[in-house]
Amino acid sequence: MEDKGFLSNAVKGVELNRRSFLKWNAALGGAAALATGGLTASQMALKAAAAGAETVVPTSCAHNCGGRCRILVHVQDGVIKRLTTDDRPDTLEDPQLRACQRGRSYRQRVYHTDRLKYPLKRVGKRGDGQYERISWDEAIATVAEAMQRIKDEYGPEAFINHYASGADGMQGAGTSSRLLNLFGGALNEYGSYSAACWEYMLPRVLGTFTTANSRDDWKNSKLIVMFGYNPMEMVGGTNTMYYLKQAKQAGAKVIVIDPRQSMTAVWADEWIPIHPGTDVALIAALAYVMISEGLHDQEFLDTYTSGFDDAHLPEGIPNGNSYKSYVMGDQDDQPKTPEWAEAITGVSRERIVRLARELALTKPAAIYQGWGGQRRAYGEQFVHAGITLAAMTGNIGISGGSAGTGGMTSRYLPTGSLGVPNPIKLAISTFTWTDAIVRGTEMGAADGVEGLADGQETLPYNIKFIYNNAGNALINQHGDINKTKEILADDSLVEFIVTHEQFMTPSAKFSDIILPATTWMETESMTTSWVMGDTVYYMNKVIEPLFECKPDFEICALIADQLGLGDQYRDGKETHEDWIREWTAGLKDVDPTFDFDTFKANGVHVVLYDKPAIGLSEFRADPEANALSTPSGKIEIFCQAKWAADDPVEIPAVASYIPEWEGPQSDLVAQYPLQIQGHHFHARSHSTYDNIEWLRESMPQRLFMNPVDADARGIEDGDKVRIFNDRGEVIIPVRVTKRIMPGVLDLPQGAWYDPDENGIDRAGCINVLTSHHPTPFAKGTSQHTNLVEVEKA
Ligand code: SF4
Repeated sequence: MEDKGFLSNAVKGVELNRRSFLKWNAALGGAAALATGGLTASQMALKAAAAGAETVVPTSCAHNCGGRCRILVHVQDGVIKRLTTDDRPDTLEDPQLRACQRGRSYRQRVYHTDRLKYPLKRVGKRGDGQYERISWDEAIATVAEAMQRIKDEYGPEAFINHYASGADGMQGAGTSSRLLNLFGGALNEYGSYSAACWEYMLPRVLGTFTTANSRDDWKNSKLIVMFGYNPMEMVGGTNTMYYLKQAKQAGAKVIVIDPRQSMTAVWADEWIPIHPGTDVALIAALAYVMISEGLHDQEFLDTYTSGFDDAHLPEGIPNGNSYKSYVMGDQDDQPKTPEWAEAITGVSRERIVRLARELALTKPAAIYQGWGGQRRAYGEQFVHAGITLAAMTGNIGISGGSAGTGGMTSRYLPTGSLGVPNPIKLAISTFTWTDAIVRGTEMGAADGVEGLADGQETLPYNIKFIYNNAGNALINQHGDINKTKEILADDSLVEFIVTHEQFMTPSAKFSDIILPATTWMETESMTTSWVMGDTVYYMNKVIEPLFECKPDFEICALIADQLGLGDQYRDGKETHEDWIREWTAGLKDVDPTFDFDTFKANGVHVVLYDKPAIGLSEFRADPEANALSTPSGKIEIFCQAKWAADDPVEIPAVASYIPEWEGPQSDLVAQYPLQIQGHHFHARSHSTYDNIEWLRESMPQRLFMNPVDADARGIEDGDKVRIFNDRGEVIIPVRVTKRIMPGVLDLPQGAWYDPDENGIDRAGCINVLTSHHPTPFAKGTSQHTNLVEVEKA
């Protein structure tokens, strides 16, 4: 495959000294000219002139894939020659933190000819992609002037620092959050695209986020049941698969329940296919079998939980509202039998009975949920059901067990950030930001607005200013792209959008000013391992910033200067290292071996522990002395916060199966009979890396479809197909495979939206087909709940 677009490919095999580097640069001709506007040759030549031996710079890959991995960058004459990964001794206690194919392809990203080179100002209609080059001075002044004008005209509540996870540490959304908060604040966003329902439910059911056993405890499990969890692709913390393999080697059986035979399901002992959005029905049937056969852990439930049965409902709650009542059908006359669940889930009644017995009788067992199941119509029920199942089997708070869903461990490392308090208390759910553009002044508590003052019923302003820093969720990663485009294209709604980016992403095209940002190889930063790890990384600067790119921190500091806030923004620190030194000052308390200079030189510090962390173990040991911070002080199988929402149909107080608004039981199925979802793909970290040709070639974007559905439509493997619903159309090649259930399609999320002249996306971006419909309680994303039809294109 032709590898166009990569300067680095031209570098291959070239012995880089000053002369050859200039020759190489000249040979690249048009691409270099486009790239530089005449600036790059001199910049790069300067580096090439500083001839020297190859050096190895340790840093970390730090996008939001779910990992953080050590990268060793081999540099000569100021040019990245190649990347390798962790070469420290590989031990069971301290395994290497090896990078995957994405991190190892990073040189292609740094030297990509599509890198944004200089500040850009929109000159056409918003969204048309028409820009002109401007100076940094003009760009900074324009952004600062717009910030001041919109603050004066509306107020800080009209600003959002848009959700973005493309960078962290000294880069990305934290830098602009600091700027906006110093400037007077901005409308807060709670929840995330990743885990809104999980984030909302954990405090309400378990009273804390620190509910997880550390991964080195998994080897103590006898059975690991994973609902839609796929760490083989989405990583879930570097080395998660390593710890799962240890568990398997120690004798644990691993079962994956998923509509798709994911890479993790292929590796597991068993894959149980299930219709999307029906896990809660399966769990209810598992509960039915356990209750009917007396296999549930009644003692645990009586001691540690509230509302499993009518005898343990909170005071004042009428009988018939417990989980057991729901499962046995006391109110709806529908016992949640395996036969009932088979019709809904597609899992045979025999397998349901067997799984219930396996789970109840195998001690200890870890039930683990991926986050995909809670990015659905009733994602809150999914999270709640997982916790309920873990409680029924008595697996919470013990080694080898789990709290039934993902969680943080108590080992989370105490490191600092750029954060400063936001003077504004008002908050919306992240997923509802488009709503807050169109009708923010009508949005109140029922729409998920939090922080309303006494007597205040709605937001005071619609969103008028968006700061989009290292994010592609303005367009690409948000639901219903066609509707979102309409909203953003109208610049009487959002009056100003500024974006920091490395590439002209689909979201960047909707910005008024685009500021070219460095990659993490061109600046100094720090990151920590993702959710479940115990590692800090010093991200050493590898090369000087390319073109006119600047680190996000510097960009925001320049805007702060313009607004008279520069000193506050920099907080008396002169270098990035000063910040990192401050952020890691508390690490010595956790690990006395931590030494800053060694940390910087090695690029990594791993905190080692002599035993695993067990989530909720103190509560398990003494539930009265260590009561949970829930209304009952216990695990809320009957969730009082859900009950208080007073919406038993969509927010039932116990984990209940509710048919999805776009699912097999909805009327829409006559027109659009197939369910479609988009999994985290190993070629991308969300949308990051989508433009890396090597990754595209090895893992092309395709629709995954079962042969039953393909045959019914005369579709063959490799055909181009048209996927459509009322929200949009995509044309993309198909992969016909039995590794997905009949009736279900999968289009890996994150491909960069690329509409043709008829508005049909040709890249395979699933968000053309998804909606803005939030989940009822958390107001989180439901982007996996969609119906479509497919035909040969
Ligand atoms: S993309 Fe994720 S898993 Fe891959 S190297 Fe980077 S941090 Fe590690």
